[in-house]
Amino acid sequence: MPAPSKAATWSCRLRERRRLTAGTFELRLTRPPGFSYQAGQRIALRTEATERDYTLVSAPADENLAVLVRLIPAGRVTPFLDQAPIGSELLFSGPNGYFCLRPDARPVVMVASGTGIAPFAAMVRAGARPFVLLHGVRTADELYYRAELQPAAKHYVPCLSAKALLPGGAFSGYVTAYLQTRLDPQPCDFYLSGRMEMIRDAMEIIDARFPDARVYTEAFF
Ligand SMILES: Cc1cc2nc3c(=O)[nH]c(=O)nc-3n(C[C@H](O)[C@H](O)[C@H](O)COP(=O)(O)OP(=O)(O)OC[C@H]3O[C@@H](n4cnc5c(N)ncnc54)[C@H](O)[C@@H]3O)c2cc1C
Repeated sequence: MPAPSKAATWSCRLRERRRLTAGTFELRLTRPPGFSYQAGQRIALRTEATERDYTLVSAPADENLAVLVRLIPAGRVTPFLDQAPIGSELLFSGPNGYFCLRPDARPVVMVASGTGIAPFAAMVRAGARPFVLLHGVRTADELYYRAELQPAAKHYVPCLSAKALLPGGAFSGYVTAYLQTRLDPQPCDFYLSGRMEMIRDAMEIIDARFPDARVYTEAFF
């Protein structure tokens, strides 16, 4: 378990909880005066017992802060975030992290699994263009922010792992299978976010198929 960080502590209020799926919700938080951040950075939300990292999905210029949370029913923090009353005070530290877009002429390929889409939602809301985005989820209802991300992307590819009816343009399989079989090898900047296992597998494929690629990663668990 991470020890509570020594960075500045900020106070905010929970303004809204929006259910995206049965197990995922977005929290909208008031923005403390003076708090600034870059798209792709995260905050550490505190409870009495501990703290956990959540990547901001709001754009740096937005009036409120927002985070996308997957409920882990046996977890220590997400059940609290799932139930905290609207209006309650939350403490957090941050902003933390360096998973931000680096200006470069190379094509940008963003690869997310599940809630790992969060930093990319913030980057796109902050104006990032052009980019290819692969989003790996089980079923189409988990394609968070699709309506915003798809029109902004040069190429947006939902990668669905469950055997189900595929929405138009979706790929049947993991993001790693798409990287292995569909994406043309070229020197790209890859940004990988989400499950550690996906990041590890994707890095192996990138090493083998994309010479001279640069890879930036943000592992959630
Ligand atoms: C850099 C970084 C950014 C992150 N950003 C986000 C974010 O934007 N949104 C978000 O929802 N989470 C994010 N996380 C994960 C988050 O910090 C917590 O780990 C997660 O919410 C679980 O917290 P918990 O206290 O409820 O569960 P815990 O008590 O920590 O975990 C209980 C069990 O669930 C497992 N577990 C933990 N997380 C997951 C998961 N996501 N899926 C499946 N099993 C899991 C653990 O291995 C453990 O066995 C991020 C983590 C990191 C390191």
